[in-house]
Amino acid sequence: MELVERPTPVCGSRDVLIRVHHAGVCGTDLHIWEWDSWASNRLRPPVTIGHEFAGEIVELGNEARAEGLLAIGDLVTAEGHIICGHCVPCRTGHGHLCVRTSIIGVDRDGAFADYISMPVSNVMKLDGIPTDVGAIMDPIGNGVHTALEGGDITGCTALVLGCGPIGCFAVGVLRAAGASLVLASDFNPFRRDLATKMGAHYSFDPAKDDVVARVKELTGGIGVDLVCEMSGHPDGHVQAFRAARPGGRVNMLGTPSRTTEVDFARDIIFKGLTLYGVTGRKMYTTWIQMTRLLRSGQFDPRPVVTHRFPLDRIADAIGVIKGGSAGKVILDIAS
Ligand SMILES: [Zn+2]
Ligand SMILES: [Zn+2]
Repeated sequence: MELVERPTPVCGSRDVLIRVHHAGVCGTDLHIWEWDSWASNRLRPPVTIGHEFAGEIVELGNEARAEGLLAIGDLVTAEGHIICGHCVPCRTGHGHLCVRTSIIGVDRDGAFADYISMPVSNVMKLDGIPTDVGAIMDPIGNGVHTALEGGDITGCTALVLGCGPIGCFAVGVLRAAGASLVLASDFNPFRRDLATKMGAHYSFDPAKDDVVARVKELTGGIGVDLVCEMSGHPDGHVQAFRAARPGGRVNMLGTPSRTTEVDFARDIIFKGLTLYGVTGRKMYTTWIQMTRLLRSGQFDPRPVVTHRFPLDRIADAIGVIKGGSAGKVILDIAS
């Protein structure tokens, strides 16, 4: 991965060209930096990486301009999954599961650059949301999707396993949505502290605490209504299924790197659990929920942002994430 000069991306007829103000650095970018087996199998370099961003429209293609919905100078962010619109998931309202998804910064040129070209249908006006918050609406959206899928958050009890940036966003969203008890768990004390700042009532260290026993203790022995599994740790699954109450729900976002062993009869079937796999953001239900939460001030993601770097210090940005004492890291590209 290196900083190089590339031509300004072409703005097609149904595209907008965006000058990037800020971009978020993500675990995905870390995989690409390390060039692990996922990255080397998926990416076809040269590709401009970066998929979380916000900026200003500087050019509109002919058809995009004719729509009349966006204008030069608008501050915007965008859904980074570009979908086909034709497959069964797309045509049944599940565009986030499109079988031909192309992701910016992975499958096509992304946002760690001065300019990015995006299909107009993926672009959203920020309408008052600051661009440094707009730049991280992709991972905030993952948190919103995980926290709110299944509904019924008012008064509910919830456990968030894994307090990386997305887990911490989920904690804040659960509080904003009216959860009565939000519990959080992570091995990393820095991340537990961030979860507390975002509103977690209690945080556990799985190295020392018996997480399931602590959850039961705090929920009258029954377990939580909702578990958000954000850790991807193989032990996280067992904990998630055991900590959920009978009839509860487990929304799973963390991606384990190996298969995990689960007692389906005891922990899922006889408990009547509902499991949900979280991929991306619902297009565009999640975005609408998220923009309303952000604009109203009910949910403030900013305590999770711990570091900012200029684009040419991308190595330092990756370094602080690897070091484990970082929440969300933002690149300041232009403003
Ligand atoms: Zn990301
Ligand atoms: Zn599709």
